[in-house]
Amino acid sequence: GPEVRRLEAAWCERFQVKHAIAMNSATSGLMAAAAACNLGPGDEMIVPPFTMIASATAAKLWGACAVFADVREDTFTLDPECVAQCITSRTKAIMAVNLFGQAADFDALLALARSHGLMVIEDNAQAPGAHYRGRPVGTLGDIGVFSLNCHKTIQCGEGGVVCTNDDKLAEKLQLIRNHGEAVVREIGYADHPEKLIGFNFRMGELEAAIAIEQLGKLEALTAPRQRIAALYDERLASLPGLTVPSVGEGRDHVYYTYALKFDAAEAGFSRTQLVAALAAEGVACFEGYCRPLYREPLFSADSRNRPGLCPIVESLYDETLLFHAWLHPEIEPFAAGIADAFEKVWEFSASL
Ligand SMILES: *Cc1c(COP(=O)(O)O)cnc(C)c1O
Repeated sequence: GPEVRRLEAAWCERFQVKHAIAMNSATSGLMAAAAACNLGPGDEMIVPPFTMIASATAAKLWGACAVFADVREDTFTLDPECVAQCITSRTKAIMAVNLFGQAADFDALLALARSHGLMVIEDNAQAPGAHYRGRPVGTLGDIGVFSLNCHKTIQCGEGGVVCTNDDKLAEKLQLIRNHGEAVVREIGYADHPEKLIGFNFRMGELEAAIAIEQLGKLEALTAPRQRIAALYDERLASLPGLTVPSVGEGRDHVYYTYALKFDAAEAGFSRTQLVAALAAEGVACFEGYCRPLYREPLFSADSRNRPGLCPIVESLYDETLLFHAWLHPEIEPFAAGIADAFEKVWEFSASL
């Protein structure tokens, strides 16, 4: 419909990319991206285990194998050296996740992909508006996937947008979105040569109309998140045992979430105690992020996916503390109070 086309045109303009294909979710977009890269039985896709499960099931859906590579301790994104160790003759793609709001190490990942003839899919559900060496994140890989679900920075209820600069990939993504039938102007209808299983991944007109408005607010919704994160950085960095998020070289961070690392031995109390004490102060936060994906039953049957496979991810799972709601623009007047709550917990830690 016209609103979907308007959204796609606005997306191309905003993110400086040739094609934007609106879908009904980022999960659909990731599944379509894996299909557009021809992932199938016998193929492998390298993915971090510290991400939302859709990043990895996108490969599994097509009978390909998700191979888990460890992440960097500082940015929580794929460690290119670990990725290099995972490359085999079966590897077809790398799924780079721009976790929590900043880009993965794209120079190194793209160099690896080029030298081994691999596709790079970018799961950019969490980092719309971020940059990597001045370029918009979500357009760095062969295909980039954005989310517009109701807890992302910009949202339309449910939705996703897939970006690519490659005409052939764009055409395939459009076909997969719509039952393998092209209702896209230039492409023929019944005589398309690709053998593709298509779905109904279409975005509706209502969602597209909302998404257009939201896209226009991306900067205005991101700037307060960055100011709030800067306040937490300044106030929390000095508390023993806490490490505030670090931003990788050449990048900015749009703080989809604020991920602290917590060293219980250094603080003198446990993460569970900290979360309970903060809750008593009215500050909710979460212990850890998703369980390392290779431990999920869906993946753990593969003998390579033993517990402890990725040591950095294991320690991050045990040591991270996530702030999600506390970056919302409406929180800004209360952000100092949240930092006060942390300080209070440390001040009275002897009585925890
Ligand atoms: C939110 C999210 C998704 C899925 O987005 P939906 O639009 O809900 O399908 C995928 N990957 C990551 C990293 C996410 O945070």
